[in-house]
Amino acid sequence: MKIVLATGNKGKLREFNKMCRDEVIPFFQLLGDIEIVEDGNSFKENALIKARTIYNKLGEDYIVISDDSGISVPLLGGEPNIYSARYAGVNATDKDNLFKLIENIKAKGVEKTLAYYTASIAIVSRYGEYSVHGWMYGDVIIKPKGENGFGYDPIFIPLGYKETLGELDNSIKKRISHRYKALKLAKPLIEMLKKKGDKSPKI
Ligand code: IMP
Repeated sequence: MKIVLATGNKGKLREFNKMCRDEVIPFFQLLGDIEIVEDGNSFKENALIKARTIYNKLGEDYIVISDDSGISVPLLGGEPNIYSARYAGVNATDKDNLFKLIENIKAKGVEKTLAYYTASIAIVSRYGEYSVHGWMYGDVIIKPKGENGFGYDPIFIPLGYKETLGELDNSIKKRISHRYKALKLAKPLIEMLKKKGDKSPKI
């Protein structure tokens, strides 16, 4: 059984490939560009929507995994949360979203505040649907620093560190990230599904 990743996000894809030793195929290599309407009310619902949509197009020989993730800032009532990718509007870039978050934090009169990333990974296969979560806690600051990572990483300082994820080496993020923690929980499930599928291939 082949493992397909239901994301077009280049930053996520890079991180998944590093964590899975290039084992995952991005869905667009098999299906081209597909628009998926993420209208769920939680990271979990949106991750399942993405994985289900791709699974329904590819069929039973595939295990589809997807990640829905984002950042939450308690000072802003939890924003941007599930709207992280479209915080500054539907066609907003990562930079637009980053600067909108900075402006909203500045408007509260602080330079630094608590934040956390959430990643929900959904796994859909002929054996059913699973989902797992991972979190990374830290602070966000109002001055972006560094070029590593993607999205909100230039303003996120993980708990226990002094530099942003933009400045820290990617190998550090790989070990502590929300995505890594969720994937660690997902991996035994994926292995189990792969073994099951390889033992009883559908003809
Ligand atoms: P999704 O593709 O709908 O799950 O949106 C995820 C959005 O959350 C991305 O576009 C980023 O803005 C943000 N995000 C999720 N994970 C990360 C991360 O590891 N670093 C920085 N930003 C992230």
